Amino acid sequence: MFKNKKTFKMAIVSSMAALMLAACGGGDSKESSKDVLAQIKDEKKIVFGVKHDTRLFGLKNPSTGEVEGFDIDLSKALAEEMFGSDVKPEYKEVTSKTRVGLLNNGKIDAVVATMTINEERKKEVDFTDVYFDAGQSLLVKKGSKIKGLEDLKKGTKVLAVKGSTSAVNIREKAPETQVLEYENYAEAFTALKSNKGDALTTDDAILYGMAEEDPSYELVGGTFTEEPYGIAVKKGNKELVDELNKALKSLKDSGKYDEIKSKWIKE
Ligand code: GLU
Repeated sequence: MFKNKKTFKMAIVSSMAALMLAACGGGDSKESSKDVLAQIKDEKKIVFGVKHDTRLFGLKNPSTGEVEGFDIDLSKALAEEMFGSDVKPEYKEVTSKTRVGLLNNGKIDAVVATMTINEERKKEVDFTDVYFDAGQSLLVKKGSKIKGLEDLKKGTKVLAVKGSTSAVNIREKAPETQVLEYENYAEAFTALKSNKGDALTTDDAILYGMAEEDPSYELVGGTFTEEPYGIAVKKGNKELVDELNKALKSLKDSGKYDEIKSKWIKE
């Protein structure tokens, strides 16, 4: 295959170079390895990835075009705490499925979008400290025969969202039920309302938002997982994580965090 030793050596060297380049993300390596905190300061803007379909956390108000919720108010307060008025917060829509990709290709600087911290995700992104504690539950039409996990048997259908921990957990906790996955929470709730499934599963805090929107639905069976929310940043940005944690702590110390939380989340 190789004419002589030299060509063979050259082939080895060039394939090693290609491998190294691929490991660094190819031609993009310079841009993608840039420190995100430095870039935020340079560009005087921080782009938060937030939900547009999740009442109470991140929901686009069709009459104003504004996105509203706990994640929005918290990220705004964090940006102000970290940078004062020097850096402008901006918002881009993410879904459970798209948030890690958008973070890693640099389209957003931080995900503040009902995202559970877990070991699997820690392989791909870095997380701040916990900023909210949720737990997975079930939403059903009032009067439904389903009262909890134990009623999810063969022949029942549960609706979930792609890329969520809920879709993974429910398969483990109710292996007999059929799981149907949707792109986002608006689609999943519409599907529940049009009887495409017997229950919808995700975090209790998100389900409370749906029950508030349509009180003919209710949560049943309590919570069956722990879903601690964290802010995710691109892996390797320790300084940014530290700054976010510092800001989160001062918002908690000053009472601002509680003020924001009680505006959206009723106990
Ligand atoms: N907290 C869960 C998760 O991170 C469910 C909510 C969501 O889909 O964002 O997957």
